[in-house]
Amino acid sequence: AYDSYGLSEMNGPGVAFECKEKCGMHLWEDNFIMEVIDQETLEVRRDSEEGELVLTTINREAMPILRYRTGDLTHIYPDPCRCGRVHRRISRIKGRVDDMFILRGVNIFPSEVERILMDLPEVGRNYQIVLERHGGLEEMRVILEIKKRFFRGSLKDLKRLQNKIKARLKGELMVTPQVELVEPTTLPRTTGKAKRLIDKRKI
Ligand SMILES: [Zn+2]
Repeated sequence: AYDSYGLSEMNGPGVAFECKEKCGMHLWEDNFIMEVIDQETLEVRRDSEEGELVLTTINREAMPILRYRTGDLTHIYPDPCRCGRVHRRISRIKGRVDDMFILRGVNIFPSEVERILMDLPEVGRNYQIVLERHGGLEEMRVILEIKKRFFRGSLKDLKRLQNKIKARLKGELMVTPQVELVEPTTLPRTTGKAKRLIDKRKI
């Protein structure tokens, strides 16, 4: 299966497609002018710097779309693709500008936390991210269900697993979270888009 990227606002066959090299999606530059901007300052980012994807249509004469802010975060790959196509590539969408939260000055995307957790074989499908404030300090607590077969074992084993998950999250997010391991089916199940982020900092 190949990744692709499209937007309902840009009706048509899509905007960007992965090739057989599977390293980013070629943006259809015959039809779109792309820019990646800093979502705060709106300045254009350099290649390989992350920012919000902005698209302008080239071939829609009746209703051109100018500098449409997609709300999606990505970066442009600077080097040419091995497949030989000249259309530049964007990375897999890292998250939505609106979903991002800031913890101790660091930008964090729930989708990134999810990707890190789902890469770990011990972690089940359900988890929650809780943001809290203790005194003046902001904390992120990640509560996650561990698969049954990993939940037996000694307290020492669980402690080791907890530290491993904590280190992995810290290594990628640059923020040290609290990690809580719970048994399968402990967390409430939500249908549809699960509410996994609980921000208690403003309460
Ligand atoms: Zn390619």
